[in-house]
Amino acid sequence: MTSLLWVRIDSDLASHDKILNLVHDANPRRWQAAFSYVCAIGWSGGRGTDGKVSAYALPYIHGTSTTARLLVEHGLWEPNGRGSWQIHNFADRQQTTAVTEQRRTEAARAACIRWHGPECWGPKGCSRT
Ligand SMILES: [Zn+2]
Repeated sequence: MTSLLWVRIDSDLASHDKILNLVHDANPRRWQAAFSYVCAIGWSGGRGTDGKVSAYALPYIHGTSTTARLLVEHGLWEPNGRGSWQIHNFADRQQTTAVTEQRRTEAARAACIRWHGPECWGPKGCSRT
């Protein structure tokens, strides 16, 4: 898995309709759910899960089964099989692991050609490593 050091948060997050619906929910856990939503984006980016959040991750994002249910009710998370969720639209806003790996490979290739010459880079990458 390829991890991201940073993730993107929509600058209009606070006024997004799904967020507004969540923070106006009657459930007293709504603020915890909202915070865990943001933490989950960071957690997923850091672990390269492309928006998948497993039940075991809930304590690490300050969430619970109740906050997870609230996020699903308001369309911010989608159920993703048994005991896991998908952050809605994660791939639209974050760099996926495939793109991250592609960019790292392109950077390694450029460095290899620069320092070792055009003959060094092959199907398995740099022939000197
Ligand atoms: Zn090389």
